[in-house]
Amino acid sequence: TARAAANKLENADELIDSVETFIFDCDGVIWKGDKLIEGVPETLDMLRSKGKRLVFVTNNSTKSRKQYGKKFETLGLSVNEEEIFASSFAAAAYLQSIDFPKDKKVYVIGEDGILKELELAGFQYLGGPTDGDKKIELKPGFLMEHDHNVGAVVVGFDRYFNYYKIQYGTLCIRENPGCLFIATNRDAVTHLTDAQEWAGGGSMVGAIRGSTQKEPLVVGKPSTFMMDYLSNKFGISKSQICMVGDRLDTDILFGQNGGCKTLLVLSGVTSLETLQSPDNSIQPDFYTSKIADFLSLKAA
Ligand code: PLP
Ligand code: CA
Repeated sequence: TARAAANKLENADELIDSVETFIFDCDGVIWKGDKLIEGVPETLDMLRSKGKRLVFVTNNSTKSRKQYGKKFETLGLSVNEEEIFASSFAAAAYLQSIDFPKDKKVYVIGEDGILKELELAGFQYLGGPTDGDKKIELKPGFLMEHDHNVGAVVVGFDRYFNYYKIQYGTLCIRENPGCLFIATNRDAVTHLTDAQEWAGGGSMVGAIRGSTQKEPLVVGKPSTFMMDYLSNKFGISKSQICMVGDRLDTDILFGQNGGCKTLLVLSGVTSLETLQSPDNSIQPDFYTSKIADFLSLKAA
């Protein structure tokens, strides 16, 4: 069903008063790479002083929630670890939600954040960034061994991705009965630097999809897993949430899939031209340039 075109946000107080909780995407909303976006501390302070619950969700799986806690602190923002939902944490929370057996192992294609979250949740894992060092010697009869006790392969963004990891993950999924294929996210591109678009977590997920011909279970945005998780955890009804993000196919879709109000900010990857292009079918309820507009946009 077609949605009405997004409205430019004009009365921020009306939006703020209409919800209990704001879920903020991180990159493009709170920061850009390692740089805080203008007016963010004051805006978060104002929302907290109005008694709003603030939650931060990121598809970037390279850090754990504890590591993100430090990043917020470095940027001068006081945010509790418990308010942060990174896709690294989502992978561990998903395994917990299905009672993934503690005597099975998780093979990780990804960076440190996923390993840290699995460890905190008490899961056994193997793989991770350094799994790139192993050599495959393709002599006649060569058989690559894999652990038959791997019950899940978790794939996230991995700057140390290599052919060994593809083969290992593929073997686990193909040859271990019932082995799950979980993706933290499938973002096509990411903004490691603001000067260029870089290949995103979707590229690593795509490799395993290509070799196994299986579809991953995605735990990051836009899947509903994290929305369900936090609405249960905090006991909030989804109609009382406004999802704020800079990306249409992850953030705004995440909010819409969850039945929340949605606000697109133009401080990240999406331009007004993209939003208004006839090729775009994802329309948020509102759009504005940055969250600091909450401080200045008052009813006429
Ligand atoms: N994944 C990686 C590796 C990233 O670098 C980024 C953004 O920089 C993202 C995902 C998207 O993060 P977010 O959901 O906070 O916009
Ligand atoms: Ca973003």
